Amino acid sequence: MSEYQVFGHTNPDTDTIASAIATSYLLNNLYKWDTQAVALGTPNEETTFALNYFKVQAPNVIKEAETEKVVLVDHNEAAQSVTNLSDVTVASIYDHHKFNFSNSDPLYIVAKPWGSVATILYFEFKNNNVEIPSEIAGLMASAIISDTLLLKSPTTTDVDKIALEELAKVAGLENYKEYGLELLKAGTNLENKTEEELLNGDAKTFTMSGRTIRIGQVNTVDIDSVLSRKDKLLAAMDKQMQKNGFDDFLFVITDILNSNSKAIFQGEDLAFVEEAFSIKADNHIIDLPGVVSRKKQVVPPLEESFK
Ligand code: ZN
Ligand code: ZN
Repeated sequence: MSEYQVFGHTNPDTDTIASAIATSYLLNNLYKWDTQAVALGTPNEETTFALNYFKVQAPNVIKEAETEKVVLVDHNEAAQSVTNLSDVTVASIYDHHKFNFSNSDPLYIVAKPWGSVATILYFEFKNNNVEIPSEIAGLMASAIISDTLLLKSPTTTDVDKIALEELAKVAGLENYKEYGLELLKAGTNLENKTEEELLNGDAKTFTMSGRTIRIGQVNTVDIDSVLSRKDKLLAAMDKQMQKNGFDDFLFVITDILNSNSKAIFQGEDLAFVEEAFSIKADNHIIDLPGVVSRKKQVVPPLEESFK
């Protein structure tokens, strides 16, 4: 057993898995720490595509941290972490989300408002003169592509583009745009997923003015084919709301080719949601033109409206 486990959030995405692997490598080589990358869930199809492409093994899946000291990447909120977070010591955090973390001991935090943790890590490697192995560079490039939807999401910054171009070179990706489209499309194979899998695949729970709001998101190249399952999705949303005590459920369906979304809403706070996006829902469907980022374009207007 290593001394530290390094992991990202539950419902892991490509940034969470790639950043855990890259951070573990960096800490082991730079500070001679004894760390192991693990995951709080099985990698999704997009991440699996990247792992296979660069021939990297998927990290072991854990629910509870098995080491006394841990490193968090791509999250800092207890609700998105291991179930026993309060029993272990967080030695450091690498993240690009807003902070909702309280600590009693000093710790090492690297946080930047950039498009992905992989971008932050690219500069950590570079500034510390640690060479990035090509397969890890490939995973980090995949993470940037995934979190920024190939540099098209409004979360994208200039440094993400620089990091992606450099990492693509190290990884031997001649055409990262072509690879990126293949990677994103690998995550849009939705036909053989159940409604529950669609809703939970990339879902996070938020508390806004005392209301509990579940926000899920899927990427697709065909919004209408997901919307054709609306009735079943609504039934599955109802079930989850009752079981978990969510007041509202917003399920965002994002067209990665055209950078648009439509959402299905269920819950009591429709008026606040309509106000947040300045649009009336049409039979549970909310049109979200130009919206691709939950973090930048969905959560902030909702928080504002729920105030
Ligand atoms: Zn993430
Ligand atoms: Zn991320």
